[in-house]
Amino acid sequence: MNLEKSSPWDGLHEECGVFGMYDFDGNDVASTIYYGLFALQHRGQESCGIAVSETSGPKGKITTYKGMGLVNEVFTPDTLETLKGNLGVGHVRYSTAGASTRENAQPLVLNYVKGTLALAHNGNLINANELRRDLEYTGAIFQTTIDSEVIAYHIARERLNSHSAEEAVRRACQKLKGAYALVVASPRKLIGARDPFGFKPLCIGKRDNSYIITSETCALDTIGAEFVRDVRPGEVVTITKDGGIESDTSMCLPEEKEARCVFEYIYFARPDSHIDGLSVYASRIKAGRFLAQDSPVEADLVTGVPESGNAAALGYSMESGIPYGTAFVKNGYVGRTFIKPKQSSRESSVQVKLNVLKEAVAGKRVIMIDDSIVRGTTSDRIVRMLREAGATEVHVRISSPPFLWPCYFGTDIPEREQLIAYNRSIDEICEIIGADSLGYLDIDRLSQMVDGRPICKGCFNGVYPMEPPKEDIRGDYFDKEINLSRKLERM
Ligand code: SF4
Repeated sequence: MNLEKSSPWDGLHEECGVFGMYDFDGNDVASTIYYGLFALQHRGQESCGIAVSETSGPKGKITTYKGMGLVNEVFTPDTLETLKGNLGVGHVRYSTAGASTRENAQPLVLNYVKGTLALAHNGNLINANELRRDLEYTGAIFQTTIDSEVIAYHIARERLNSHSAEEAVRRACQKLKGAYALVVASPRKLIGARDPFGFKPLCIGKRDNSYIITSETCALDTIGAEFVRDVRPGEVVTITKDGGIESDTSMCLPEEKEARCVFEYIYFARPDSHIDGLSVYASRIKAGRFLAQDSPVEADLVTGVPESGNAAALGYSMESGIPYGTAFVKNGYVGRTFIKPKQSSRESSVQVKLNVLKEAVAGKRVIMIDDSIVRGTTSDRIVRMLREAGATEVHVRISSPPFLWPCYFGTDIPEREQLIAYNRSIDEICEIIGADSLGYLDIDRLSQMVDGRPICKGCFNGVYPMEPPKEDIRGDYFDKEINLSRKLERM
């Protein structure tokens, strides 16, 4: 176990958040994009960037600023001041494919014969290597190692034979396999596209005379914009001054084939966001209620591991009648420069970020709700911390099913051997994390949790909405032998 390499939480990461804005009145959008990205910071903390242009100025002049770190570390009032333009896109990134370097930060800006293009992307493509090779054979030279550049090149190439930028985006998207939510600024248009399965969320908002396309509705609330609608899975939307919102639904699948990443509801998205018409908070409350129905236990206190465990803990409390309370205090001020404790040091990463409120748990039987267990090291520590604070019993309930399979669509679930649930029974896991009892959300509850919306459950049952890739797209997370064993198990 390499603690330095894993997150302080031993948790999972979302890949990215995107935010695009077009102000028809010509006002600068950079500072609003900054606040939008700030609201999306939970989706990526490694790097961020903003690219803007003037729609009334010379076609193709884009100003970009990007860097490593949190939004408030990278941008200063002075840098925002230099970003002049009423059309722009922004991005926050956590890398699951492509190294964590400044070159790989987004948005990506491409100059080509038809002008310029700024693009921000969330998701992982499963055929990026194939697409990259195709382009390299025709002379393309890549500056980065990320999927997004492959997408940008394909859009640029399609643009040469298309009537419009949106047609080029659609034609490029037809070649992509995997997960993507895109925002693209072409000289006079803001374009958004969501993959046909709808893995990643994307929505449209409006404020005064400007439109926004972004990953989550919480970003709209933050900037005081009203929610207009979600971008449909498979839809390409184009926002222009004359046409408002135009929609191309030619790539949309029948609804039952859609496959939203259910982990957006369980963990990634902010609880104040709505995805495809469903409140993330309400879905977490429901998960907690299901856990109380399916894994009841006598206790004195229900508490959530912040933040994503809190709503599920409240749901458990509502259903069981056991009081809900706060047992943890979280220090959220962990920037990029935070030095993670070494495994050998006395300070654990978990304790640096999380303390237990002794007064709340001493002498009590505690039910602790968390969103997932990946490797188990974090759960083990938190259970121990509760006991050291005086809890007489610690019962762990998890608001998702056990992780058994990798993800190819933008979540950094490690290889199977590192997953605590792989080849272990619930009792064995319970013993490893040192809990008095352990219960997971039943996999059949996932669909009920999202009111029947079609979802991807690949990391829980190994059944993916599309054939998993045959080559390594996930760096050292991926193991070809695992791929083989999965195939054998399905036979
Ligand atoms: S495999 Fe899991 S994490 Fe990946 S998209 Fe599907 S539900 Fe989300």
